[in-house]
Amino acid sequence: MFNAKSKSHSQIIECEANECSFNQKGRCRALGINVGGPEPLCDTFINEDLKGGILNAATKVGACKVKSCVHNRLLQCTAPGIRVIFENNRALCVTYQL
Ligand code: SF4
Ligand code: SF4
Repeated sequence: MFNAKSKSHSQIIECEANECSFNQKGRCRALGINVGGPEPLCDTFINEDLKGGILNAATKVGACKVKSCVHNRLLQCTAPGIRVIFENNRALCVTYQL
């Protein structure tokens, strides 16, 4: 089992998905996000006509289903931080690495 004490959860350093309701000037305001598989997309992305989340949240990756990523260990992200870009209407984790 993943030892939560040995590795802290990965933080969201930056997110360019301004269209997302959780985005605040390049920062994510959700307490945590999930990243889906098989592609490294933010599953928490939502485009609503309201802004959600918490100001200055220290957002973490709660879970990641992208097993092919070198940073993925037992469905948790072990990268110190991740960056998310917005491409083709999708919020993509560009810290993903094979
Ligand atoms: S796309 Fe994901 S990481 Fe970016 S602001 Fe929205 S919920 Fe946060
Ligand atoms: S860096 Fe890899 S393990 Fe971490 S969230 Fe992105 S795809 Fe998942």
